[in-house]
Amino acid sequence: MNKNDKSTKSYRSDTRLVLTGRDPASNHGFVNPPVIHASTVVFESTEVMFSGKAPYGYGRRGTPTTNALTEALTDLEGAAGSVLTPSGLAACSLALLSACKAGDHVLITDSVYEPTRHFCTTVLEPMGVEVSYYDPLIGNEIGSLFKDNTVAVFTEAPGSQTFEMQDIPAIAKIAHAKDAIVLVDNTWGTPLFFNSFENGADITIQAGTKYIVGHSDVMLGTVSANERAWPRLHAVHGAMGYHVGPGDVYLALRGLRTMGVRLAQHEKNAMEIASWLETRPEVDRVLYPALESDPGHEIWKRDFSGACGLLGVILKDCTKAQACAMLDNLELFGLGYSWGGYESLAIYADPRKYRTATKWDEPGQLVRFHIGLEDPKDLIADLEQAFGALKS
Ligand SMILES: *Cc1c(COP(=O)(O)O)cnc(C)c1O
Repeated sequence: MNKNDKSTKSYRSDTRLVLTGRDPASNHGFVNPPVIHASTVVFESTEVMFSGKAPYGYGRRGTPTTNALTEALTDLEGAAGSVLTPSGLAACSLALLSACKAGDHVLITDSVYEPTRHFCTTVLEPMGVEVSYYDPLIGNEIGSLFKDNTVAVFTEAPGSQTFEMQDIPAIAKIAHAKDAIVLVDNTWGTPLFFNSFENGADITIQAGTKYIVGHSDVMLGTVSANERAWPRLHAVHGAMGYHVGPGDVYLALRGLRTMGVRLAQHEKNAMEIASWLETRPEVDRVLYPALESDPGHEIWKRDFSGACGLLGVILKDCTKAQACAMLDNLELFGLGYSWGGYESLAIYADPRKYRTATKWDEPGQLVRFHIGLEDPKDLIADLEQAFGALKS
């Protein structure tokens, strides 16, 4: 990239992924940014040291390696600035900490990633922040939940495990009219499929562990903010002392280069498997907004330009034990948390356990699949044989 113009906006997304966050001309011509292991930076003189004008002052506050990734994210998201955190959950907690203080009230979607809820219960509430959860499908009605001290609305679409699509532009319009900040956990949509800022966010979060890294080998989070939210986000990130090691940042930059082609294949494979699942007698409902049958399909079509490899399935007429026997029978799908890597995964999910504002009262058993980059025909054959366990 040209040193003086770090934006790749004039290009399409796959081109941007290749160009962004690197500058061979300032790195002896090497294609990729250097991996700089650093704490101390030494200065030429006390004058330079005190001036605050040196490009780098201390490893924790940024290196050419971490800046390559934050610049790439700021560019891709269309943000005013971005910071890195040691995990996706740390990105969620940092974003919330930057958006409220004691005595404030925040609104959180009831479909939020469960560990984010745990952060609210364990840290925000004891610190004196009032937290309320709202129906993810609330849309325009969210206005009725605002109090005089409401400062932030946290959204996530589709919802973790339950895949409700939120009308984020409608929620953002009302939140902004009441001067509140809008946060989006955009891990499912990625910066490629959902433009958080154009849809009304002030702060957007990525569990970089998922599709940015893409290979199940690094934990990392990112938070990007617009002009309004950036100064506070930047200050709180600095105050918390968060830093991500250069090896992990490098792997995230490497993952970013292929995120477009990987996501295209995840989407293609997931669509094939979701469509097959819909035809199966064992399946009550497939939770995947890219399917026309999904209740969130219209919003997805309006706001998103693609779908990732993560979907849910409600199994018909079976017990938890049968659903688990099916999962135990899977050979290609690994049983494991997280997602976004190249491999297929499955978990059993029970949203009844943590919902508070709404009830999850689907009669069937819920399982979640991450559809990886294997040949979908092999994955379908694996699912078909594993479904045999539902009959016993
Ligand atoms: C996985 C996930 C996170 C947390 O990311 P980690 O890197 O595992 O801490 C946050 N939000 C969503 C939606 C996730 O799926």
